[in-house]
Amino acid sequence: MSSASSSSLRVAIVGGGVCGMTCAIGLIKAGVDVHVYEAASKFGEIGAGVALGRNAINILTELDVYDDVHTRSLEHEAAGHENHDWAKTHPPRGLDDMHEWFKYVSGKTGETLWEVNADTLAQGVHRAAFLDALVHHVDPSRAHFHKRCTHVTQDTPDGPVTMYFQDGTTAEADVVLGADGIKSAVRRYVADTSADVHDPHLKYSRCVAYRALIPADKAEAAGCKFDYSARPLCPVGHNRHIIIFTVNAGTMINIAAFVTDPEQTGPESYVPPPVLSKQSATREQLLKAYEGWGSEMTNLLSCVEETAKWDIDVVYPPIEAEGWTKGSVAILGDAAHGMQPHLGAGAGQGLEDAYLLIQLMSHAQTNKSNVSDVLKVYATVRQPRAQKVWDSSKRAGDIYEGRAGDDLNRFAEVEALEKYIWNRPVNADLKDAEELLVKQGVFH
Ligand SMILES: Cc1cc2nc3c(=O)[nH]c(=O)nc-3n(C[C@H](O)[C@H](O)[C@H](O)COP(=O)(O)OP(=O)(O)OC[C@H]3O[C@@H](n4cnc5c(N)ncnc54)[C@H](O)[C@@H]3O)c2cc1C
Repeated sequence: MSSASSSSLRVAIVGGGVCGMTCAIGLIKAGVDVHVYEAASKFGEIGAGVALGRNAINILTELDVYDDVHTRSLEHEAAGHENHDWAKTHPPRGLDDMHEWFKYVSGKTGETLWEVNADTLAQGVHRAAFLDALVHHVDPSRAHFHKRCTHVTQDTPDGPVTMYFQDGTTAEADVVLGADGIKSAVRRYVADTSADVHDPHLKYSRCVAYRALIPADKAEAAGCKFDYSARPLCPVGHNRHIIIFTVNAGTMINIAAFVTDPEQTGPESYVPPPVLSKQSATREQLLKAYEGWGSEMTNLLSCVEETAKWDIDVVYPPIEAEGWTKGSVAILGDAAHGMQPHLGAGAGQGLEDAYLLIQLMSHAQTNKSNVSDVLKVYATVRQPRAQKVWDSSKRAGDIYEGRAGDDLNRFAEVEALEKYIWNRPVNADLKDAEELLVKQGVFH
């Protein structure tokens, strides 16, 4: 961050997920006065692994936290927690090694299999370990829990922003960054959505993900033939696909089974989400969803002991750049562009947002009187790329699930989409933003 130096801005981050915490760490390291306000009683992540593409790894490396994330992820696995072994056996590779990500084979049972070459995958880390590693870099006095933000206000253009919390308290800052996830309260403020109506940008994508862990010996005893520990696997079919990989040194098989409503004809058919995004589910429901998928998958899924299903909610219609900021308030991460998870790219885009905000909020030329213009430029630079990744993630789901046609050569397109996402120089956004700020006369 060569152009950065400590600014005198007081920054507040609403939401302490991976994007909010990454932003906080970078700002603290750059000497900015920052506080994080988190709704939960502590920082925490749910779920198993999260894939970090090269773009995300580069940012964490620049912030000097990547080694910690990697080490903690391995420790988490060594302690017997669920994780997958990509991180351990396949250290990060350069982009030049990305050839041959996909190979196509026909399964004995007649299903189409998309075989993933683990050598070229992005780094997989355990979600909880990832967040633990980030939390470790933030002074506890800067983290405030049980602080569910209900709304924010800014009375004058250069004046302070006030955050209101559910517990009746308030806090003030010069800049508020909303990293409060897909159901963001801060988004309502920047996108001008009144608190008493449904958020028009929050949609259920008509896709659910069943998640389960299956003991590998149980699967073998049930007649499963594949060696799931050899590599991640992704059987695909119409409106269905399953991501399968082993965790705990190959002893447990982790599945994320996606099922898309056949009525889903595109984003225009997305609907407001149900109240609960996680629901209980049964093995029988899962088996029914994958009926006709052949003996291998039927045997595997019949070993599921416990499962639940998550609705995949997204931000749609997209929020244009003008809607990402208002005055001295901006949104980042899922709050700005929550997307389908089919390219494992959502967190990475949030980290890119966070990194540009770190660089701009700590920039020697940013101050209270120009910060709203600086935030507008942040949005102008970040929104088109994040939206392209949103579109690509949807497209990848359509390719996996046959909505883009049955030609398996289409899988090569997924590789190109990944290359676009991963192959972004770490300071490219800052360069674009600085050029724009100078052109607009905000920076000199
Ligand atoms: C099934 C699935 C698989 C995925 N796999 C990948 C993957 O492999 N790679 C990848 O890059 N991405 C993946 N993603 C996407 C990724 O999980 C998200 O993009 C990422 O977690 C978003 O981070 P965030 O910090 O913006 O939001 P969140 O992680 O949702 O964090 C938001 C934080 O804000 C807090 N909060 C919420 N509301 C308020 C409020 N009003 N006031 C204060 N605090 C609040 C929450 O408690 C939470 O701590 C996947 C998503 C799904 C659903």
